[in-house]
This record gives sequence, C-alpha cells and structure tokens, in this order.
Amino acid sequence: MRNGTRLQSPRKTFLSALFCAAAGVLALASAPRTVHADGPAPAEPSITAVRSWSAPSNTRIVFDFSKGVDAVMPDSGAGRQLVVRVPASGLVLAPGVPRFLAVGDSAVDSVAVSAEPSGATFTLWLAPECTFRAFSLPATEDKPFRIVVDVTRVGAQDAENRRLASIAAAKRRDRVRLVYIDAGHGGDDTGARGPGGVYEKNVTLAVARELADQLNKVPGVRALLTRDADFFIPLRQRYKIAEQARADLFISIHCNSSRRRGSGSGTEVYFLSLKGASDAADRDLADIENAADLVGGVPPQAEDDVVGVLYNVRRNSALERSQLLAEELLDHIAADRRVESRGIKQAGFAVLKSVEFPSVLVETAFINNPREVKLLKDPEFQAALGRQLAAGVVSYFTKAGVQLGAPATPATPANPANPVTPPEGARGGGGGAGLR
Ligand SMILES: [Zn+2]
Repeated sequence: MRNGTRLQSPRKTFLSALFCAAAGVLALASAPRTVHADGPAPAEPSITAVRSWSAPSNTRIVFDFSKGVDAVMPDSGAGRQLVVRVPASGLVLAPGVPRFLAVGDSAVDSVAVSAEPSGATFTLWLAPECTFRAFSLPATEDKPFRIVVDVTRVGAQDAENRRLASIAAAKRRDRVRLVYIDAGHGGDDTGARGPGGVYEKNVTLAVARELADQLNKVPGVRALLTRDADFFIPLRQRYKIAEQARADLFISIHCNSSRRRGSGSGTEVYFLSLKGASDAADRDLADIENAADLVGGVPPQAEDDVVGVLYNVRRNSALERSQLLAEELLDHIAADRRVESRGIKQAGFAVLKSVEFPSVLVETAFINNPREVKLLKDPEFQAALGRQLAAGVVSYFTKAGVQLGAPATPATPANPANPVTPPEGARGGGGGAGLR
C-alpha cells in the first residue's frame, strides 16, 4: 500500500488482510497499516519465536505468534528504523524468546522486542540504504501466524545481475557446461520434517553441495548452487538465476514425505508436465512443493512464462531433454540398492518451468520413513547420492551428444560459494558448438 490508499493487489486476498491508516512511524515509509489476522483474535497470544535469515541480497526477519494478531506497520519503505506494533492485550513472550536479536549483517543491525501488558513493539535497526517490505502470513497446517519483514540492500539486484553475468562470461571463456543445482526450500521454508528434527532444507543443501563437488571434478563441467546457505528463494527466482547465468542444466533436490502421500519409500525423478500430473498423488506432491512460495510469502503468479505459443519449440525440446536427464539420473541412483526406484514421473512443479535448459526435480528419499531418514542425514549417503547424480549428469551429456572437453583455457576456480568473476575484457564468444 502506498500513499495511504487501500491495497488492491492480489496480495490483499492472499494475505486475507485489511489495512487502515495509523500514525506514521518511519520517515520515508509508506503509510502504516493494520493487518488483521484471519478470524477473531484470540485472548493472550504469545510471541513464540524471533528469527533472522541472511541471504546475499536481503535479510528476512520473522516473528512467530501462537495465534493470529493485528499488527500496525508500514507496508514498505526505507530508513534506519522500522517499528512494528502489535496492540494485543496480554501478549507475552514465550520462554526462551530473546528480547534482543543481534543480526549484524549488511542489511539489519538488530531487533528489539518489548512486550507490555498493552501489546508488543518490535524495533528493527536497519543498515543505511536499505528498503523493506512488511507483511503477515496466516497460520497453515505446520506454520504459525507470522509477521515477516524483508530488508533489501539498495543496489542488491544490480550486484546480483553483475554476478550472474560474470558467471555467464566465465562459462563462455572457459568453454564449460554449467549445471545449476537447486537445494529445495530454505530459511523459514523448512520443507518436510522427519523424525528427530531433520529438516528437508538441510538435507537438500548437503546433497546439493556433494553433487556440485563431484561435478566440479569433471573436466568441462562447472556446477553452482542457487543457494549455498539457509535462506528462502522464491521458486521462479531459482530458475531465473540459472537462466541469467546461461546454465545448461538445472537439477532441484528435494525429499519426499509420506505424511502427504500415504506410506512411501524410494527415489523418484520428475520433469515438467504441461498436461497434468502422472496421477493424483504426483499432483498432490507438486502442490506441496509449489506451496514453498506461499510459505515464503510470494503472491501466486497469474500466468506462466511458458504458456506462450512462441515458446513451444524450445519448450518441447527442453522437455525431451529433461526426460532423458531424469532417466539417466534415476538409473544411476537406482544402482544404490539402499533406496528403491519409484520411476520417472511428470507433474507441474513451478521450479521446472524454464524453457532455456532441461530441468528435473529429484525426490531423493522419504524423510519421514524411519529407515530412509537415517540415510538422508548420513554424510556418507549424501556423498553417494552426489556421486550417483554426477555420474548421471555425465551420462546424460554423453547420450545427448554433448562433448565435454577439458577447458580451452585454464579454468577459474570452481567454487559454488564464490562464483568466479572474470577479469575485465575477458575473452567472450569463443564457446564450442552449442555453448550458450
Ligand atoms: Zn521439497
């Protein structure tokens, strides 16, 4: 909401929120609003957590509540201080919730929590030249009511664009195939949970790192991660990152859970379906994975990039190659007899909707299955998965007729955490046949 007008965007229905005017709390901010939680606010809610996640270009602060509350806060703005007021009488801090959170990154300095009998006040001290967006998210099956503040550094998007352009330039210069590996979920979006507090988001990152390490040992291949730490990335942004870097392949890593699908075990590899899922269970799984954006507070997209007729040829080509990639990956995972193969499947996963490269989603194993969760959290199994998937990628390149030669120039260090930056004036345009 800006200039005090009522919000008319889809976010209004998405957040089930109503807004009203209130006293200004921050210079340069848009007019504050009151966000009403779904339904009547129950008596004596409590603040159950105050957490932060630092991503390369933004920091997310999340306040968890035991019940829905009304909040008075600006919708968006800029400045050094942001105040969020929750005028709920009897609001208390749950045991163990800190009154002060030192964040100390380049977007947020710290967060203070003041709980009084008349309500709570959250004060966020921000780094210079940052903008913020504040919103609430309703409680879901396994998520509490949350107030979320995303703080973004000014110029962060420009810096990200330069970083990805430099990766693309280095790829052309070094004549390598670029594989982007996407560790599913992250930050407040934990993904599925297994017994003993095993989170899908941590398993996916561990397996993604193993796969990247293995691929970076293959001459002519470079592997990078969409995220190399614990933070949230919207689904669409995940493949957009790979597109900007001119990736040749995209592999999203996830864990399955039978809580949402009945009893289950084993590995399955998906590629995009444009006509609907292979069966109802696969559609349910795609719905669950696609809900990551809802967990993270991203409004639903009204239309897809891939529905345009102009994309048909590229889309069909990408789908054919995606199927081949899925088959090769599953064949190699199935060689490890510890986890059964559930086959190649198709469903409408939002993260697989690029037409620029083949892309697949690997449901590694069932995180709620007592036997398989032991494997998923075992570094030896994670490394084995990385080796098997890397072998599958190499096999895919072979079957797809893609030659993997040694780099034509000395390779720049391949480090997923620190993507290469080519020197100014680095050679470009020297890629081999088919290099993008
Ligand atoms: Zn997942």
